[in-house]
Amino acid sequence: MFQDLNQKVAVITGGSKGIGNAIALRYAQEQMNVVINYHSDEAGAQKAVDEIKANGGDAVAVKADVATEAGVQALLDAAVDNFGGLDVWVNNAGMEIQTPTHQISLDEWNKVIGINMTGVFLGAKAALNYWLDNEKTGNIINMSSVHQQIPWPTFSSYATAKGGVKLFTETIAMEYAPNDIRVNSIAPGAINTPINAEKFADPDQYAQTQSMIPMQKIGEPEDVADAAVWLASDQAKYVTGTTLFVDGGMTLYAAFQDGQG
Ligand code: NAD
Repeated sequence: MFQDLNQKVAVITGGSKGIGNAIALRYAQEQMNVVINYHSDEAGAQKAVDEIKANGGDAVAVKADVATEAGVQALLDAAVDNFGGLDVWVNNAGMEIQTPTHQISLDEWNKVIGINMTGVFLGAKAALNYWLDNEKTGNIINMSSVHQQIPWPTFSSYATAKGGVKLFTETIAMEYAPNDIRVNSIAPGAINTPINAEKFADPDQYAQTQSMIPMQKIGEPEDVADAAVWLASDQAKYVTGTTLFVDGGMTLYAAFQDGQG
């Protein structure tokens, strides 16, 4: 347990399923009040709210598109109106489109950048303004990916967005460190969520992904949630501008595992 998180208020974008959902449930275990954002899956978000309330916590589900200013404002308003403030903003929402780069349409490119990168900027901007206007401290956690570091052919829009998230995280961490606002990223490896459902349903692709991970297992959303709760807590009070890799060692070049090369 992280006592300092008790009654703190968090916004989690893309919280109706996958990693965001696990973070919402994990935060609620710490008695945090949670705004669970969803884009289309209202039932998933409501299920999380019901589960949190059944366990004595508090949460609300809010529909919003993180790629818009109105969307992130609605999330901030929900935090303030329902829970009286904001302490932690988790920019988790994301998506990917696989297309050879010479065939990506501008609309596709803009969509991936808009949600994964501009959405992070918009969420961070809303949270920063709230904390600065109210002379409060705060904590931003951005969901990046191992692909902020590992190039990913046919996913160039996604890799570009996550690379952007890395430097955005570092830049605003420096910019707002004097205000005691911490900003960090989490870079998951291969995690068992709906984004990978089709790929992992195929035993060959599952085994192939496993072989790229030194720990030889696919991660679970709860593994990422454990990192997100630590980063939000005072136990990480001197940590800012960093990326915490939660990847079973994926970024360690598994092909060199047996001393080849
Ligand atoms: P997921 O598909 O289960 O969840 C993504 C969530 O983002 C969904 O709830 C979706 O509705 C939401 N979302 C998409 N567009 C949105 C929009 N415009 N506005 C609001 N919400 C929107 O995927 P996940 O695996 O849980 O991914 C969560 C984050 O983790 C993403 O940023 C993803 O890039 C990152 N990530 C995932 C993995 C993995 O292996 N699963 C690896 C590295 C990084």
